[in-house]
Amino acid sequence: KPPKQITNEPVKNFSSKDTMDWDLLRASVSKFNNASLDVPLVINGKRVFYNEGNRTSFQQVNPAKHSQVLANVTQASEQDVAAAIQASKDAKSKWYKMPFYDRAAVFLKAADLISTKYRYDMLAATMLGQGKNVYQAEIDCIGELADFFRFSVKYASELYNQQPCESSPGVWNKAEYRPLEGFVYAVTPFNFTAIAGNLVGAPALMGNTVVWKPSQTAALSNYLLLTVLEEAGLPHGVVNFIPGDPVKITNKVLADKEFSALHFTGSTAVFKKLYGQIQQGVVNDVYRDYPRIVGETGGKNFHLIHPSANIPHAVLSTLRGSFEYQGQKCSATSRAYIPQSKSAEFLADLAGTLGSVKPVNTSASKINGGDLHGFMGPVIHEQSFDKLAAAIEEAKKDPELEIVCGGNYNKANGFFVEPTVIKTTNPLHKYMSTEFFGPILTVYEYPDAEFKQICETLDKTTSYGLTGAVFARDREAINVADEALKYSAGNFYINDKCTGAVVGQQWFGGARMSGTDDKAGSGNILNRFVSVRNVKENF
Ligand code: GLU
Repeated sequence: KPPKQITNEPVKNFSSKDTMDWDLLRASVSKFNNASLDVPLVINGKRVFYNEGNRTSFQQVNPAKHSQVLANVTQASEQDVAAAIQASKDAKSKWYKMPFYDRAAVFLKAADLISTKYRYDMLAATMLGQGKNVYQAEIDCIGELADFFRFSVKYASELYNQQPCESSPGVWNKAEYRPLEGFVYAVTPFNFTAIAGNLVGAPALMGNTVVWKPSQTAALSNYLLLTVLEEAGLPHGVVNFIPGDPVKITNKVLADKEFSALHFTGSTAVFKKLYGQIQQGVVNDVYRDYPRIVGETGGKNFHLIHPSANIPHAVLSTLRGSFEYQGQKCSATSRAYIPQSKSAEFLADLAGTLGSVKPVNTSASKINGGDLHGFMGPVIHEQSFDKLAAAIEEAKKDPELEIVCGGNYNKANGFFVEPTVIKTTNPLHKYMSTEFFGPILTVYEYPDAEFKQICETLDKTTSYGLTGAVFARDREAINVADEALKYSAGNFYINDKCTGAVVGQQWFGGARMSGTDDKAGSGNILNRFVSVRNVKENF
């Protein structure tokens, strides 16, 4: 039975009507502030805490105030990983034999709980733990997360309804959408609570059971999400939550015969390694089937500005694309190509606006309409901070690079890096091809007459193909870019920033070294987690 009409969850925008209940948000923030909560493993519904046996814990801190410990995250031991795998196997048959209606109900109910009863707790956990301002948290762990669950139910019911033709009278054909035969391994990132929800939720909805390795720096919000799913009726063992050492956990999981799929979002380097490891496992007959590998990885996403563009709009879009959530979206704009005739205006406007943006403790501040205070928070952790600081220092010394604005950083209290714009005289400079995953944008000024050539250069500069945008009023220019950049971006935007894909509206995912081309927020991702059996019957 197809579900009722599915629409995107309305996102509160904190402007004139201000539907946000600030008292409730403050109450949730203070509940998690300094609470040092213990985050357990969850294996077959059972909580396992670090102080049982000789397990260790990881301290998840507030990246805007790193003296503040938010959570002691229990680290899975090898035995815990084995237990999580076993729990996934044991829970499988009961879960997938449930009518789809029952599985769907869990995710629809979870979406409703997220948008109502747990809204403010979800926001607070994501704001504090992952360094988001309230608006960035809202579009992530409320809007996008609820959308992923609801739209997956809609797409799944459409998929189940796709059936083969009746070939002749007296013959009946049926497609049976089984889950994969083994279990799914979900490796989820820090940057979106919603993505973690989808990496776990999409396979589970299709009847799979999941071993979930969350990011350590998102453990608090991710654990809360699991408790919401449980309250919504998720049976024990369907999703087993095991934070811990990535290499240790992964090696154990990928050595299991019944490993059937990897659902991953994270860095290209890690994904390549896992991809190779799984292929080696296939060659060595480790697995029962060919595991599905579904991944979304890095990007070096571009804004290409044509001389005919509306420059103030292109500037604002670039500011948002590059610096919202401190540039820590896989989709973030990290290189821009600006025509020489518009460059002075573009950069002055961008640098002028960024001058008033200073990163702050976003969980303690609120966004008011138009007020840039609270626009930017910290980067996620010290390694990321150090890498960004080193990239800025290197830029200061490189004769082909010039810092246009920003360039300061400070980790005394939190991991704060100023929004930084770097200009290069070399379109092939490594800063035009390296992903920094932080608030650094590199720009190149191209001669106006060389728009077509710059499209070709842009296309060849990196191995990525995640997102990109062209800004132009001239239709012919749009067509030139569209044609030349066919494979440079799996999400291509015309006159809009290259971030902020909405579930169901912009199916999200990249080609080339940015991912396996599967689209989150669409129906096709669900295909990757089913095994279709065709049944023919003669009457
Ligand atoms: N879907 C998000 C966007 O379009 C980015 C997801 C990611 O960072 O992986 O901005």
